[in-house]
Amino acid sequence: MKKLDIHSKKLIIAGPCSAESEEQLLQSAQEIAQNKEVKVLRAGVWKPRTNPGGFEGAGTKALAWLDQAKKLTGLPVGTEVATQKHVEDALHFDIDLLWIGARTTVNPFSVQEIADALKGTNATVLIKNPINPDLKLWVGAVERMRKAGIEKVGLIHRGFSSYNHTEFRNAPMWQIPIEMKRLFPDLPMICDPSHISGKREGIFSVSQKSLDLDYDGLMIESHCNPDVALTDAAQQVTPLQLKEILNTIEWKSSSVEGGDFAKSLEVFREQINQFDDQLVTLLNDRMGVSENIGKLKGENKLTVLQSKRWGEVLQRILKQSETTRLSADFVQGFMELLHVESIRIQNEKKEILS
Ligand code: PEP
Ligand code: MN
Repeated sequence: MKKLDIHSKKLIIAGPCSAESEEQLLQSAQEIAQNKEVKVLRAGVWKPRTNPGGFEGAGTKALAWLDQAKKLTGLPVGTEVATQKHVEDALHFDIDLLWIGARTTVNPFSVQEIADALKGTNATVLIKNPINPDLKLWVGAVERMRKAGIEKVGLIHRGFSSYNHTEFRNAPMWQIPIEMKRLFPDLPMICDPSHISGKREGIFSVSQKSLDLDYDGLMIESHCNPDVALTDAAQQVTPLQLKEILNTIEWKSSSVEGGDFAKSLEVFREQINQFDDQLVTLLNDRMGVSENIGKLKGENKLTVLQSKRWGEVLQRILKQSETTRLSADFVQGFMELLHVESIRIQNEKKEILS
């Protein structure tokens, strides 16, 4: 059997969303294993479904199918665990990799239960981001595993659910995994483009984007016959489509040392530093004006928030930035941040006065 090393670069995990039957799993596994890049075979055995009545996984008996798939392909296998019983059963069947699903990472009780069940084992655990964009829950789950003495830990970015309908099933909110990578530079970060995109057409671009952000691997759902899959049919790809994706994506290097470009990069970075310095000065000066405005509003008992004026400020800048390379989303988000900080400063001034 191939050895599982979650720290190896280009960690590709692939397999069906769910293990549906012995035939479906073994067929999928065999076809997927033709792709030599695939390092781990995945399949969900216990499926957390939003509504009752759907296929909730084949349960413990499917662990035996995973074991067969491992013997057939020589690939390590992985599944999702959400309770102590899941962990015990999975370890009993020698499942090589366990992952904590997004609906579990949100719940510290469940994460602790899993951590306690794993104490004293040599298990490999990947932690998916929580379903809501809460970095601290993700951090907390890592800390719980570490406290339980689990050393082989990695992260999976699968996007965040939102009420608004967007092009993604789960909005990637890349800034959150980027921050997670900064906090835990030693943990491998795997992208799950299947659950981010929600449709097979989107998997390539999300995968490539993650590799451009220096991710260490991908977890892609692949099924021998996706159209009849019992879960997540729209986002699963055939093993052949998986091959195409793996052949097309481009792995980039994060090392900037030594290359001919290193000098030019240094010059550009120095320019960026200078602009950042100017930005801080400019923002500070702008907030100085906010301070004066806060004082004036305080003296004259005016509300800090002047909605109409804020609307005008935003519209004016959005209009002005139309001809620039900045996206409207960025400009709006930036101005909103600026406005909140300006309100904070105005409030402080007001409080000092009263
Ligand atoms: C899955 O990987 O099939 C799954 C249920 O994922 P998530 O926890 O990201 O929803
Ligand atoms: Mn799925």
